[in-house]
Amino acid sequence: MSRHPSGGHPGGGHPGTIKDEYGKMKSMADGDAAEHSHKYMMNSGSSLRLVFWETTAGCNLECIHCRRLDVSKQLMKNDLTFEQSCKMIDSIAKLGKVILVLSGGEPLFRPDIFEIAKYAKSVGLIVALATNGTMVDKKMARKIVDSGVQRVSISLDGIGEVHDGFRKLPGSYDRAVQGIKNLQELGMDTQINCTIAKHNVDQVEDIYQNAINLGVKALHIFMLVPVGCGVQIAEDQMLDADKYEEVLGWFYEVSKEKKIETKATCAPHYFRIMRQKAAEEGIEVTPKTHGMAAMTKGCLAGSAICFVSHEGKVFPCGYLPVEAGNIHKQEFKEVWDASEVFAKLRNVELLKGKCGICDYKTVCEGCRARAFYEKNDYMEEEPYCTYQPTDDMTSAKIMGFDFDKGEQK
Ligand code: SF4
Ligand code: SF4
Repeated sequence: MSRHPSGGHPGGGHPGTIKDEYGKMKSMADGDAAEHSHKYMMNSGSSLRLVFWETTAGCNLECIHCRRLDVSKQLMKNDLTFEQSCKMIDSIAKLGKVILVLSGGEPLFRPDIFEIAKYAKSVGLIVALATNGTMVDKKMARKIVDSGVQRVSISLDGIGEVHDGFRKLPGSYDRAVQGIKNLQELGMDTQINCTIAKHNVDQVEDIYQNAINLGVKALHIFMLVPVGCGVQIAEDQMLDADKYEEVLGWFYEVSKEKKIETKATCAPHYFRIMRQKAAEEGIEVTPKTHGMAAMTKGCLAGSAICFVSHEGKVFPCGYLPVEAGNIHKQEFKEVWDASEVFAKLRNVELLKGKCGICDYKTVCEGCRARAFYEKNDYMEEEPYCTYQPTDDMTSAKIMGFDFDKGEQK
């Protein structure tokens, strides 16, 4: 059974979306905001925020780090039909004001993608689109805007040829940048998603400046997860734990500039680093000081997010290949509420190894997919974290926070 610590409607326990709550907390006094944001996070055990849906396995690119091994140059016959898609969307909508991210493959490959977006919006979901951007000419940008999509994320894995090399298509960087501009001209919110690995780690400063110069709303950096094609390149491309620590530390520093919305994704220990650095600076982590990062935790797989594959299988995230259910056999809501895989992921007490004894486990949790890749057990310790926890909760004491009780000392 899944846990619903907030007691109310499963998945609907929050009084509002994370953005609604963020708005409220920004106007609170510092101490109240710190306490409120921590309680919000602790109580969000099974409150669904985001569903990433692989609308099709078809794609026009063959990126070297793709989580799929079998990307197709055409739509696949086992992609969900429009009717099946709408049924799933209806069930997701029962869980509240959820963000539905239309991804792929390449979602713009689907001719009915705009009808799907309109339908999802009509039943109350917030619709976002994750695309490689290369198909977003002016006409396509207009269709995206008219369909009610509220934000478009475009993957840029480096500058110029570095991105093209990763995406295995010369010119794909220029086309993606043009796609961003075409969308911005029509007033669309845009976001850059960037996987940081060996190929582009020397460009991180440029990537950050480029995002600012392009005028996107947000820059989300991703740590490579060894899954799909990523397994084959993991050895060559994965940064070691020390280098990730350095990059995440740098990201914390630039995030303080508040020039752009920043988020470290699939790098759960960022939330540990953020708290360690804030403690060194003598500041409290609150929505006022650290934005929405103060209200969320590292790995959200199965507790706030999940992934639906193009053929209807439900997973904790797109990188953790442990099936939690199948929408051809169950309603989506039933999978979310009752999956044993999700129940396990929502219980940090079941974490093993150093994550199990870590004082930051409630705000971090480690990447369950990297644990699965290394140890074939998704509750094992995160292999790319340098932190060595002890049983005495030293860091939590330094930080003045008792994470077990969720109380400020
Ligand atoms: S398991 Fe968590 S941190 Fe790892 S890839 Fe999935 S959502 Fe990201
Ligand atoms: S040991 Fe695990 S829970 Fe602790 S900070 Fe590292 S990854 Fe996170």
